[in-house]
Amino acid sequence: MAESAPFRSLPTRWLAEARDALTSILIPAPCRLCGALLNHSSRIPVCEACLDGFSRVPEKICVTCGMPLPDAAEIAGEMLLCSACRLETYAFDRARSYALYENEIVRAIVMLKFERIEPLAKWFAKRLAEIYVRNGEILGADVVVPVPLHRDREKERGYNQAELLSKPLAKLLRLPHRGVLLVRTRPRPAKLVLTLRERWAAVRGAFETRPGSQVDNLRVLLLDDVMTTGATLDACSKALRDAGAKSVVALTVARAAHNPLPSAGES
Ligand SMILES: [Zn+2]
Ligand SMILES: [Zn+2]
Repeated sequence: MAESAPFRSLPTRWLAEARDALTSILIPAPCRLCGALLNHSSRIPVCEACLDGFSRVPEKICVTCGMPLPDAAEIAGEMLLCSACRLETYAFDRARSYALYENEIVRAIVMLKFERIEPLAKWFAKRLAEIYVRNGEILGADVVVPVPLHRDREKERGYNQAELLSKPLAKLLRLPHRGVLLVRTRPRPAKLVLTLRERWAAVRGAFETRPGSQVDNLRVLLLDDVMTTGATLDACSKALRDAGAKSVVALTVARAAHNPLPSAGES
């Protein structure tokens, strides 16, 4: 807008108020991660640069759990496995993740957990669908199942963040979504910070398949937001296997760079 003489003659305060009013109409909210002004037209409250900047899981990973193995020597004809998977630690067949659980994605996942930002969950679901399609041979599934929250926790939060991801993913993959196939029968302990040993103990036997649900011979795609120790995915997979599931593969938005095990004595 060209400045005309009458505008210049108006009091400075009036001009400032007018400018602020215009700004709030024309300029969208800032990116929730970096504060830059959003310039895309979607409802995702994160800018393109931040979405592009999440640390992707590298190519060289454990075939079973998906842990990055940057220094492992590859031997022709042998599967690349981390030490935990060589000991057959997990009950799932495969786990894959979009990004490493570090830097900005940690905050993005907190947003999913507490604010129910569906456009962001959909964006992550698209990335997971791409991983599924790229790895079709090893991730093949018949149904999509979210890692459940305990009933009390879901009531308190109003939704399950894993389901925020699993529903759009099921739609993208044209697979049936089974939101109530698994139930968490024992809540997470109230203690805020759990040691590794406590985390494994907290989920052991904490999940069951809903009585009467058809699991026999089913290939299940399990969804969660984050894989840290792998204990939760393991406990869910055990419950599904006990009910007769043919295979369980897991997808998470992010994963820890390492799989700390209770035997390692870390906390
Ligand atoms: Zn940003
Ligand atoms: Zn592994």
